[in-house]
Amino acid sequence: MENKILGLHHVTAIAGQAQRNYDFYTKVLGLRFVKKTVNFDDPHTYHLYYGDYNGSGGTILTFFPWEHITRGRRGTGQTTEVGFSVPAGSLDFWLDRLEKHNVIYNKVAEKFGEPYLTLVDPDGLKLELTVTKNADQRPGYAPDDIGAANGIKGFHHVTLTLADIKGTADVLTDIFGYKLADQQVNRYRFVTDAVENAATVDLVEAKGEPMGTVAGGSVHHVAFRVKDDATELAFRKKIVDKGFNITPQIDRNYFHSLYFREPGGVLFEIATDNPGFAVDEPVESLGSSLKLPAQHERRRAEIEAVLPILK
Ligand code: ZN
Repeated sequence: MENKILGLHHVTAIAGQAQRNYDFYTKVLGLRFVKKTVNFDDPHTYHLYYGDYNGSGGTILTFFPWEHITRGRRGTGQTTEVGFSVPAGSLDFWLDRLEKHNVIYNKVAEKFGEPYLTLVDPDGLKLELTVTKNADQRPGYAPDDIGAANGIKGFHHVTLTLADIKGTADVLTDIFGYKLADQQVNRYRFVTDAVENAATVDLVEAKGEPMGTVAGGSVHHVAFRVKDDATELAFRKKIVDKGFNITPQIDRNYFHSLYFREPGGVLFEIATDNPGFAVDEPVESLGSSLKLPAQHERRRAEIEAVLPILK
């Protein structure tokens, strides 16, 4: 198991206003704010991380918020949905909560035998809350006004929309160890048996659909999880051998990363479990202060002066 892709690690998307993004994910969906840092390549903007209590792989949704960004458009070559897992019996609670918070949502539907509801975040990012067939045993995270009976457990799946699924499906099966588990119309469900949860990637084939544009409210990349550096480097070799261009290993402080673009146009990352989010602050106080990587620490005063204050 250890040398496999362990499902999803994190998903990174683009948002508009940082405060609005923070309010939605912590106060409406009730995720834990696990890291307040900056975009390492553009340190005058935030990189905000939300997840479960420990910031476990398979629960982490992150955002680059740019206050005045235009909105992206969903289309092919993109990750078009981010699905979370919620406890059985909680969808009525969520319908009521989304209504009260003026969130745009759809009535409960079902796919692959699992009930789910669709909603959009304030920037138009499409999310789903799904009750999984097999009970999700992860602790998840929930503030008091949501409660453990309703709290989000972590990821269920991502959906990639593609003009042609073939190349992407090959990456999932031949390199990542996923198998085609089911199909409904033009939606192909791929699952890995290496992990119990966050193990699903849906490919939707939309021939003739225009390419999406990545901007506000769209996903920038999807990261798959590996246990450690040795596993990551073994995957790097495998991916190079298949003829893809892939970055060297990059230190993202909380995980080590590789990036490559899969044939359908979606940016994939592989990210390690090590060292994790507690590397620069205790688990109990994750997210409570601005963390900067060593290369930007000397510019802290200047960076803090331009970042909006989150409250
Ligand atoms: Zn990433």
